[in-house]
Amino acid sequence: MAGEPQADCLFCKIVAREVPATVVRETETTLAFRDINPQAPTHVLVIPKAHYPDAASLAAGAPELAADVLREAGAVAVEEKTAGSGYRVVFNTGSGAGQTVFHAHAHVLAGRGLEWPPG
Ligand code: 5GP
Ligand code: ZN
Repeated sequence: MAGEPQADCLFCKIVAREVPATVVRETETTLAFRDINPQAPTHVLVIPKAHYPDAASLAAGAPELAADVLREAGAVAVEEKTAGSGYRVVFNTGSGAGQTVFHAHAHVLAGRGLEWPPG
């Protein structure tokens, strides 16, 4: 069923605290933790606790939860004191675009120059 935990999903395991992570924010519906392989001085992943494979399926299946993820991305940027200098929120979607974990997640990137267009 949509949103149910998946046994083979790394981020469901992080939600269940079966895999450790450096958590920076938590709400009833979301978790934010530092990326294990940071691409910028601030690199935090914001995920819904419920399992959806990507951002579009999250928005289609649980629009309020998608909004929770976006709101939390903004809250992370404020907490990391990056909201003023700017930050980027990225949802890689599909392996061709670099998605490696198929549990929806927002990358919050900041703290260095962010080129446009991104690579
Ligand atoms: P994607 O490539 O799917 O857009 O993003 C997945 C992200 O998860 C990558 O940036 C990767 O570094 C991060 N990641 C992979 N495994 C772990 C882990 O075990 N812990 C944490 N904190 N991040 C992870
Ligand atoms: Zn999952």
